Amino acid sequence: MNNVTVMEHPLIKHKITILRKKQTGHKEFCELVEEISMLMAYEATRDLPLKKIEIETPISKTTQEVISGKKLCVVPVLRAGLGMVDGIRKLVPNAKVGHIGLYRDHDTLEPVEYYSKLPPDVDKRLVIVLDPMLATGGSVSAAIGLAKKYGAKHIKLMSIVGTQQGIDFVLKNHPDVEIYIGIIDEKLNDKGYIVPGLGDAGDRLFGTI
Ligand code: URA
Repeated sequence: MNNVTVMEHPLIKHKITILRKKQTGHKEFCELVEEISMLMAYEATRDLPLKKIEIETPISKTTQEVISGKKLCVVPVLRAGLGMVDGIRKLVPNAKVGHIGLYRDHDTLEPVEYYSKLPPDVDKRLVIVLDPMLATGGSVSAAIGLAKKYGAKHIKLMSIVGTQQGIDFVLKNHPDVEIYIGIIDEKLNDKGYIVPGLGDAGDRLFGTI
């Protein structure tokens, strides 16, 4: 699975365990999603290209490195993806934020776009699509398709908890996308929830349980 990076850092594993617990309240849940997203962004931006620039310190002139060319655009899939934005922006304050909103049609069960707004220069940016839960992969895959429709060319996906089924589905539809996943869980239940998972991420983030 060359396109898939599973997080190995002990801090991420620890925080995901606390996130899963049903006793973890809304405030702590939001803080943990933010912290995990920040730590995952550190991994997902490891290959950003650098260029050398001349600067002057109080002591001397020197040539040092800064991020070059491609900058970042994060695209949360509404609504749960919103919880991941602030953690990444703490690390990369200049990242632009696009939004993609999808709902599942009751009859066809297909994801339907209800809102999308991406920056006009999205084609020149590394786009990180955010959804904390990669379950069947259906809505995430549709969101990536929409990001491409609006011009995104270099796309990564960041999810905190996923399934192998979801990963396989996304890669079947988008073999060019790199996936960063916090942890891969056992399976989906008959209601489409990840097992053991953490429940409904949107409800736990926004207190709508
Ligand atoms: N979305 C969630 O919020 N939780 C799941 O377990 C699956 C999809």
